[in-house]
Amino acid sequence: MPEGHTLHRIARDLGAAFVGTTPEVTSPQGRFAAGAALLSGREVLDARANGKHLVVEHAGEALLHVHLGLIGTFTIDATAYVGERPVVGQVRCRIATDEHVADLRGPNVCEVITPEDEAAIAARLGPDPLRADADPDRAWARIHRSSKPLAALLMDQQVLAGVGNVYRCEVLFRHRLAPYTPGTKVKRRSWEAVWDDLVRLLPLGVATSRIVTLPEQVEEVEAALARGEGVHLDERSSYVYKRTDQPCRVCGSTIRSAEIAGRTLYWCGRCQRRT
Ligand SMILES: [Zn+2]
Repeated sequence: MPEGHTLHRIARDLGAAFVGTTPEVTSPQGRFAAGAALLSGREVLDARANGKHLVVEHAGEALLHVHLGLIGTFTIDATAYVGERPVVGQVRCRIATDEHVADLRGPNVCEVITPEDEAAIAARLGPDPLRADADPDRAWARIHRSSKPLAALLMDQQVLAGVGNVYRCEVLFRHRLAPYTPGTKVKRRSWEAVWDDLVRLLPLGVATSRIVTLPEQVEEVEAALARGEGVHLDERSSYVYKRTDQPCRVCGSTIRSAEIAGRTLYWCGRCQRRT
């Protein structure tokens, strides 16, 4: 499933392509024909993400709301075609100008909503570390009252919006936190450190479309971005994610895995003992 940084990256790219334009919106597949007709021919004012929810705001309080779910994709293409652009696969929604075409395939949600609906969605979500208006205390209020394991709470979109399995596993390791610690036993300063780290790490994911968590890679990417350069990381590297039975990069003991909150958690039982 795409994590929040992917949605923010799509929002950024949709905004760059379409804000200020009046695109044609269609549903080549047909399942979103009525909604597309509502949006088509209205100026795009903004594109934004909140957690895993994407909103493209059109003039006249008509908002396209998308949740990609497990398999959805939203691709933005700047290729110039002469005449008709071919439709590949099941395109639920297409946004098109003469310069850009964006195709949405396989989403969980694709609908037209009002600003009130968007506010209701936001009220159900926890804070998103990628948003400037995010309030980490809202997440803490839920965490410290819950007996659920911290590793489950970090995946709960009502607690924290946008964080998925990879960031969950990696940020727990970065802070050496025991994943099964009940929320009621989590120290406030541990939560604050996790939040601050997500605020630091997630923008690197937006910038590179890679989940960067190893310290040397974090520093490399931050330095490159500070210089205004692009970054090309050769391989995806993680502390614990998808490293079952491999040696911990810090202590050498075997990385463990178990299902928690419906997804596989990876952790080091020796390193991760803090609450
Ligand atoms: Zn270890």
